[in-house]
Amino acid sequence: MSKQTLSFQAEVAQLLHLVTHSLYSNKEIFLRELVSNASDACDKLRFEALDAPALLADDPTLEIRVSFDAVAKTLTIADNGIGLSQQEAIDNLGTIAKSGTRDFVSKLSGDQKQDAQLIGQFGVGFYSGFIVADKITVESRRAGLPANEGVRWVSAGTGDFEVEAITREKRGTSVTLHLRDDALDYASAWKLKGIINKYSDHISLPIRMEAEEWKDGELIDPNDEKGGRQPGAMVKTGEWETINQATALWARPKKDITDEQYVEFYKTISHDFDAPLTWTHNRVEGSTEYTQLLYLPAKAPQDLWNRDKKAGIKLYVKRVFIMDDAEALLPSYLRFVKGVVDSADLPLNVSRELLQESRDVKAIREGNTRRVLSMLEDLAKADRLPEAPKDGAADAVTDVISEEDKAKVGQYGKFYAEFGAVLKEGLGEDFGNRERLARLLRFASTTSDAVSVSLADYKGRMKDGQDAIYYITADTLAAASNSPQLEVFKKKGIEVLLMTDRVDEWALNFLHDFDGTPLQSVAKGAVDLGKLQDESEKKAAEEAAEAFKPVLAKLKEALKDKAEDVRVTSRLVDSPACLVVQDAGMSMQLARMLKQAGQAAPEVKPVLEVNADHPLVKKLDGSVHFHDLAHILFDQALLAEGGLPDDPAAYVKRVNALLA
Ligand code: ADP
Repeated sequence: MSKQTLSFQAEVAQLLHLVTHSLYSNKEIFLRELVSNASDACDKLRFEALDAPALLADDPTLEIRVSFDAVAKTLTIADNGIGLSQQEAIDNLGTIAKSGTRDFVSKLSGDQKQDAQLIGQFGVGFYSGFIVADKITVESRRAGLPANEGVRWVSAGTGDFEVEAITREKRGTSVTLHLRDDALDYASAWKLKGIINKYSDHISLPIRMEAEEWKDGELIDPNDEKGGRQPGAMVKTGEWETINQATALWARPKKDITDEQYVEFYKTISHDFDAPLTWTHNRVEGSTEYTQLLYLPAKAPQDLWNRDKKAGIKLYVKRVFIMDDAEALLPSYLRFVKGVVDSADLPLNVSRELLQESRDVKAIREGNTRRVLSMLEDLAKADRLPEAPKDGAADAVTDVISEEDKAKVGQYGKFYAEFGAVLKEGLGEDFGNRERLARLLRFASTTSDAVSVSLADYKGRMKDGQDAIYYITADTLAAASNSPQLEVFKKKGIEVLLMTDRVDEWALNFLHDFDGTPLQSVAKGAVDLGKLQDESEKKAAEEAAEAFKPVLAKLKEALKDKAEDVRVTSRLVDSPACLVVQDAGMSMQLARMLKQAGQAAPEVKPVLEVNADHPLVKKLDGSVHFHDLAHILFDQALLAEGGLPDDPAAYVKRVNALLA
């Protein structure tokens, strides 16, 4: 391969521009990213060498070497890991393979602070080198390839990069940063050690630097031992020393790990720049033995909604890295969790297929799920603490809250805002934990705009005689809370949960009751307020229905193409009419959503319910405009719940005719 100049993928070029312009307030993270890549490369080699030991043979001790040259203004991070072939260098260092890249780049606003945050969540990895370098040279050779199939990749981080074939005696990669003038302080052992200590201490491989010692300067007059000397300096000794702990963080005892170290470890494995919300670290012994270290991120990633998104769990077997994204270790509805599982029992050559079938894996998956749920339960519990004393006795109670719990206050709300909707998928996915999941759900309601009402809260506030948990689903909070279906509930002071997540409708299909109380959509089936309605109200309703029968028959006939049925209801107070669906039917909202998503949705013919007390409805009887009024009534009910009339122009015409 002769020297060639290639262009970066457009998104990379954009990203690079941002990296250099937005991330300089936190320059030093580049080292974490490059060390983390080097460590991954060694992990990959160790894994491939399980089948092909020859790959390791000539140089069996995997390690990372960090070196610098203050005169040449360079800093080099070298590893003897898997290396890159020529083609891999072009592919991996010229494009970003991650799903959602384009999407991500399109979200960038140009506002540096905001973009820096976004980039943080996306992870810039290798490209972060350009924060401190105006040129990067990568030299590499893939393990197993002959020496003359090495590759040199050089770029100034603007539009393009150069690649050429080189001869490289050793496998692995060295990344040399040509430091910018404002980053020359990174060419210092003291500075580098400090950063590595902070960010990369937990890397399980040795990170080594050449030792330095103080050397006095030369005598100014060689014949005068006591005379003046040139300035002294630190000089390299040629000895390489290990500067990190080099034991996998998760394998260390909990008590020896600081919060800061946990946080840094999280950042390394997740490529998230923000600290996690919380974590759980346990050694599990039992039928199968493993260590789990699981983190809840503070912010949802860009591609959370991609159901094919990889899970965030790295699998190790006895400290040997086996694979990223081991989706078999957590159910899909917990795909936001990041972490590490290290099994003592799985075979080293375990494949993804094998993982699906292994009983050990099943046990680990269940163990992980339980742990994540109890982590969430802890946060949820702590979130309630300061609210508990409502009567001014706050101090008495907050005093007994531990510092640890205090730190958790408010966290669950944050978590839920980011990941609550994903968690709900669990209702349909994980029947065994449905009860626990149901307790973790939070909703807005007619008494709380904040998404903070739990089903247990709701139950605690139920009126005497109320025997169902009422809810409504809609596209927005405004649409839900203004829905005519709520009128009678508002009038009677009965709380209704307002659900506006896209998954609600689907997820609620799997939750028929909570703690013995059925959940009832107020937009489905005939309203049955049961004991909440007194005898005189019931009687009045029946009489009204009876008197209205002839009009109903005419309405049914007029709307037979649009409405499944027309009936009188007691759920309305101020509105003339509303639409509901049959008890077992799909809601109008879900049907609309499916249609928008281009999926097959059954034709939902709703039931029109009318308020026999409403002046407009009373007008129907004997009106010469009966047909138009009937259609207006129907179309308005549709509008009120966020739908659109089939024929909007006809609707407008009818209304205008009456207005005129
Ligand atoms: P990520 O690590 O998130 O995939 P990076 O931009 O950091 O993204 O790196 C891109 C790719 O370049 C990596 O996935 C890997 O294939 C390759 N790479 C980076 N550094 C090294 C290295 N030291 N040795 C081998 N391959 C590397």
